Amino acid sequence: MSLFDNAISSIQVGLNDSEYEDRLISSVRNLYSGILLLFKYKLLLLGGTDTSAALIKQNVVPVIDNNGRVTWRGAGNKTIDASGIKERFKSLGISVDWSVFDRINKCRNDAEHFYSALSGEEVSDVLADCFIIISRFLSEHLGMDARKELGDEAWQILLAAYEVYDYEIESNAHKIESLIFHHNIIKKIFLDFACTSCSSPLVGPLQTGLNAEDLIYYCAECSSSYNYDDICNMGVLDLYLGRFSGGHDTDIPFSNCRACNEGLLLKEYFVCTSCGCIE
Ligand SMILES: [Zn+2]
Ligand SMILES: [Zn+2]
Repeated sequence: MSLFDNAISSIQVGLNDSEYEDRLISSVRNLYSGILLLFKYKLLLLGGTDTSAALIKQNVVPVIDNNGRVTWRGAGNKTIDASGIKERFKSLGISVDWSVFDRINKCRNDAEHFYSALSGEEVSDVLADCFIIISRFLSEHLGMDARKELGDEAWQILLAAYEVYDYEIESNAHKIESLIFHHNIIKKIFLDFACTSCSSPLVGPLQTGLNAEDLIYYCAECSSSYNYDDICNMGVLDLYLGRFSGGHDTDIPFSNCRACNEGLLLKEYFVCTSCGCIE
């Protein structure tokens, strides 16, 4: 069996296992290894024929070829692991949503190393994440159609999980949209926020239509809770991530608000996260 066939069959087995309560750990394990195999298959394709599959080996060494030029060869039998794949994809410009992949990996890791039982709900969340990774990777990086490669039966399991998840994302966004914020940019921070413990985007309030500042926000997956300021403080940093690097204080797009001494003033939007004033 080729690497690609192995990847697809591992994913199919994982999807089939997800239908049985006593095979949930095996389901997550198979899905995870299927995804890694897909990634390796991409590296194998990129490596071409004359590199001895260097890109999927953990260790790569320079050798002199027959023409006296330096080339890279795979050394040893060990194939690359997940963190090695991440690094290689980054340097090759292959984009994958790693926060989604990390959620799948964390679930597999917890189940395998702590022997924690997986609930049907946790597996549904993993399936939704698998949908995102697998269908995008097949189409964007391998030019294939997930439904065709996986077959109808497996595809339906994956799609159904994603549809539930997508619905949850949307209804969480509706709850946030209904709250009263000082400014739309602060609403955007709340819409974009992901749980810092489990990176789920399903972090939202229990009530609707109230002042955003008065509420507590809960992660639907791990139950972590955040108050208004927690999300503002982390969200403002995310908003400007990569936009400032050292330099002068005047280059930093936010400062402490001098009117209330509590919030962050977003200079570009003339709004303080806490008192909402312009200073
Ligand atoms: Zn969480
Ligand atoms: Zn203020």
